[in-house]
Amino acid sequence: MSPDAAPPPARSSPGGHIRLTSHSGGTDAPGLCWGAPTPEQRGPVVGTTTTRGHRNVVGTHSGAYGVYRALAVAAGKLSREHRADLTNTSPTDVIGPYPQWTDPEAIVSLDPWGALVADVFARHIADGLDVRPTIAVTKAQVILPEVHDAIAKARLIPDGRVLLATGAAQVTKAAIEPVWYLPGVAQRFGCSETDLRRVLFEETGGMYPELVTRSDLDVFLPPIGGQTIYIFGDPRALADPAVELTARVHDECNGSDVFGSDICTCRPYLTHAIEECIRGAQRGGVGLVAYSRKEGRALGEVTKFLVYNARKRQVGGDTADQYFARTECVAGVQDMRFQELMPDVLHWLGIRRIHRLVSMSNMKYDAITGSGIEVGERVSIPDELIPADAQVEIDAKTAAGYYTPGAVPDVEELKKAKGRGL
Ligand SMILES: [Zn+2]
Repeated sequence: MSPDAAPPPARSSPGGHIRLTSHSGGTDAPGLCWGAPTPEQRGPVVGTTTTRGHRNVVGTHSGAYGVYRALAVAAGKLSREHRADLTNTSPTDVIGPYPQWTDPEAIVSLDPWGALVADVFARHIADGLDVRPTIAVTKAQVILPEVHDAIAKARLIPDGRVLLATGAAQVTKAAIEPVWYLPGVAQRFGCSETDLRRVLFEETGGMYPELVTRSDLDVFLPPIGGQTIYIFGDPRALADPAVELTARVHDECNGSDVFGSDICTCRPYLTHAIEECIRGAQRGGVGLVAYSRKEGRALGEVTKFLVYNARKRQVGGDTADQYFARTECVAGVQDMRFQELMPDVLHWLGIRRIHRLVSMSNMKYDAITGSGIEVGERVSIPDELIPADAQVEIDAKTAAGYYTPGAVPDVEELKKAKGRGL
């Protein structure tokens, strides 16, 4: 083909040609040795899209928001060469390093060095590598009507330190993006890395060809939501098993958490946990809420609302004995949260013992204790906090093995509680 006959540049690529990801981009990429004893030996996670030859992972930064970044570039609003100015963005509190950070099996779904890249990979950044934080740590005050109510009823008393007279609780919070070490993730789920990579490739519609073509890349930045943690008290105390730790691991439920829907116990349980965390921190302990973006048991909100309709329209109405069956009819499974990766965030915080786990989930309990963290007391949601329409959910869950200090409902009991009709 003569130069004159060259095809016009593809509109989708400002560079004029599509840059394939299916073969090695060059030899400029830094090595990445998961779980190595020092950050220098571990190497930085480089998911930049500007310099292909520097990349040492599959996928890109910001989880699902990477797609919005692409839209901003496509719309001409963002230069693809933009490099973050990280001045004054460093963590407000010191977290780690802890021994778990250099154990390649203890943490496989986040980068333990993700908040400290500007420090520990300063040389790489000075050499021109686009190394971005995957964790950010800051401070905040949180103000909740349920906490105000607890103060009014004298269940909580402001101390000017953890809880201010205004009703605001002082917290340290961190946002964490997923960074998956694929061999470790495969091991957690008991499948081969080859099968995991192929299924991730196929079930995302072929979104990341490198999963199947670049077996030299072990780390994947998946396009999913991450997690947020809220710490009440001194973050460094989380790693001291002698300091009382009150903790809840909570999975996102937009309908209840934000909008106050009464079909489940998510927000009441979350705010009860925050109250417990505040009280724990006030008596010299520390509190933690780890919030994962796994909406509707990670089935997504569309599936969740379809299930609500199926539950409320079925013959006999919404009852606990049919609770899981209706979910399975629509989604094919009862639950897709798979708590296998959840304990990673606890290991990132150096946690070895949770004195009071504010959760009734047997799956979360088993995942936490199975990962080597001791759990003392389990704190269930007080009966008076269960909305009337959520009794169906609580009965179904306790019958299925969720922790309860009370009686486990039997087959006849499960038919009793009736959810409201549509
Ligand atoms: Zn909910």
